[in-house]
Amino acid sequence: MVKMYAVGGVDEAGRNMMAFEIGDDIIICDMGLQLSNLVLYNDAVDNMSLEEMVEKDIVANPKILDGLREKVKAIVVSHAHLDHVGAVQYLANLFPHAPVYGTPFTIEVLKVLMKSARSVDSPLKNKFIKVNVNSSFTLPSGLEIEFINVTHSIPQAALVAIHAPDGIVLYANDFKFDNRPALGQRTNYQRLRELDEIGIKLLVVDSVRSNLKRKTLSEIVVKEMLRDIFIETDIVNTQGVIITTFASHITRLKSIMELTQELGRKLVFLGRSISKYAKAAKNAGIIDFKEKGVEIAETPAEVRKWLEIINKNKKDYIVVCTGHQGEPNAVLSRIAEGRTPYELKENDKVVFSSEVIPTQVNIEARQVLDAKLDTFRCKVFKDIHVSGHASREDHRDLLGMIHPKHIVPVHGHVRLKEGMIELAEELGYEQGKNLWVIPDQQIIDVK
Ligand SMILES: [Zn+2]
Repeated sequence: MVKMYAVGGVDEAGRNMMAFEIGDDIIICDMGLQLSNLVLYNDAVDNMSLEEMVEKDIVANPKILDGLREKVKAIVVSHAHLDHVGAVQYLANLFPHAPVYGTPFTIEVLKVLMKSARSVDSPLKNKFIKVNVNSSFTLPSGLEIEFINVTHSIPQAALVAIHAPDGIVLYANDFKFDNRPALGQRTNYQRLRELDEIGIKLLVVDSVRSNLKRKTLSEIVVKEMLRDIFIETDIVNTQGVIITTFASHITRLKSIMELTQELGRKLVFLGRSISKYAKAAKNAGIIDFKEKGVEIAETPAEVRKWLEIINKNKKDYIVVCTGHQGEPNAVLSRIAEGRTPYELKENDKVVFSSEVIPTQVNIEARQVLDAKLDTFRCKVFKDIHVSGHASREDHRDLLGMIHPKHIVPVHGHVRLKEGMIELAEELGYEQGKNLWVIPDQQIIDVK
């Protein structure tokens, strides 16, 4: 029997944290932040107690695991997005004997995060252990846990397979099926078919985009969309080009770098989070942007200095900066409010190589930013992006490949998960029997 504890992230997009009790072991998968709530409180988070962070819904409430902490033998992080790893620095100390297992890039991101003020005050006692994709490790009890290579929107994402004696628990949160990845390998479909042979008991599946009746397109498509915009830049005498995208999206940053080289401009990354992820990518041996000639400015003072230089010769540069969700203190918001030396003009371009994360906070913050940008009458390009999340037809392919006995859709409010529920019911699953649509803080016994 497997007992699943829905600590967080089951009926919301954010603060993913789920635990699985198998015999004498509990394995926690992911410890993430609710990013939209984090943005609301901004710097105040640095001075918050853990209780306050729980109360303000920034991290998942670990109360459900009270009395069970000694049983937690591993914290397994699936990939380095902050809604999956950002709370390790705050919560892992509750389970000091459980090592944190992640792929090399994920662990490098965690190390960069640990340098924040909070972790310096109370260093984590947990060991960090790197596990490559397509390999496995074994807990002292003999329980095997495997990382399977999967495509997403960040390097070295993994599907986590926990080999319980009576069937595999497959934690698939998050993923897409990109058959032409611009960095890294395709999903290890062969291994998924082998796991199907062994028998998958429980699938916990990212369903946030399951309402979309389509396949999520490859990242290579975005590179071509961006190329189109870059070519136009040459034709219409564009001056400045500012691109904002997910800081963790190393593949996207690499595509932008290659296109910038083709255009003969110089690339500058601005903002703390891009700088952090670029560092992790270098440390994990994935790509060294600096070595390839990219300038990276981390602190507000460095960012300011670069914007002053760029403002004088806009045609020589491409800027990549933070702020695609309208975060109030991100570089793009500061530019749009005239708080930097960069003056937006009519012949400048602002490219959102992103989509709005579907939470109320993000939607509203982007409306504010969009309205400000409109006042400059510069050219704005929205949604130059493909999602990192599976759509309905990718889910159909996954279910067809692995035939899980039980399914728990996660990573979104029930409205967002409807597509997955509909698909599962179409394939013969029944709610309450082998399809579990549960809220956070609930426990289910999967027999
Ligand atoms: Zn993710």
